[in-house]
Amino acid sequence: MIKHTLLRNIRALRRVHAEILVACAIGIACGMVISRSGPMEGSVIRTSRTFPAFDHTVFPVSRVPNWGAMHSAAEWNRPYDQMTGEDFVATPGYDLEKFSTPFKLVVSRQNTEEITRRLFYSTKFLGQYDIDAGEYTGTHPGVDLKLAFGTPVGSIAGGRVYAVRSNDILGTHVIIEHRHPRDGTFYSTYAHLSSVTVRKNQRLRPGQTIGAVGMTGNTSAPHLHLQVDREYRGVTHAPYQPTDGASLQEMQQWTVNPIRFIERYAGA
Ligand SMILES: [Zn+2]
Repeated sequence: MIKHTLLRNIRALRRVHAEILVACAIGIACGMVISRSGPMEGSVIRTSRTFPAFDHTVFPVSRVPNWGAMHSAAEWNRPYDQMTGEDFVATPGYDLEKFSTPFKLVVSRQNTEEITRRLFYSTKFLGQYDIDAGEYTGTHPGVDLKLAFGTPVGSIAGGRVYAVRSNDILGTHVIIEHRHPRDGTFYSTYAHLSSVTVRKNQRLRPGQTIGAVGMTGNTSAPHLHLQVDREYRGVTHAPYQPTDGASLQEMQQWTVNPIRFIERYAGA
């Protein structure tokens, strides 16, 4: 009898995880290509005084739901303000080696930590819209982070709000310009927001709140599309949208892995 009940619970758990899999199958493409030409002019002193310091990078969210420990739709559909301290875990690492295990196998092992990691990084950098797809299998110009609706989102570095926009694909999104003292100018984009609390040209410190996670635009579940694009030879696309058939070389010229970007400049 105990064995029977256990078996039934495991089946229920698998069914629930299969539902999570469907719920997190997030379809998104990125539109709106904006070009900006010409390097910034003016003295270094003037630039450093008028443009906010890059400072260092931080993750855009500080609280990640422990998706793997939630076993019902009612649990994982809760907005951020209905979750409590024990519902969150430290930000999982973006670990390419661990992404290579088929998600079904991860679920069958009931490895809570790995289920959370896989659901959190639901679409990988330049990957396909498939939880099992790795990097460089598609054209997704950024990383999708599965989060609770209403989770506060912060700027990943110091900079200035370049634009606040809305369209059918990215929904409500904020684009922030960052000027690294050695490595050039970057633009971070935060899409599908439910609300925005900054305005164009606003100066930002690393981690300063800019809005909240939502599901505006082309998405079937609350998540944050995080993208980092770079200026190349005085031209930028913010946010960059690969056209059909864009080469890997072209994509890597304009956009960088946002997680690796955050890791690289976290200390300085
Ligand atoms: Zn995305």
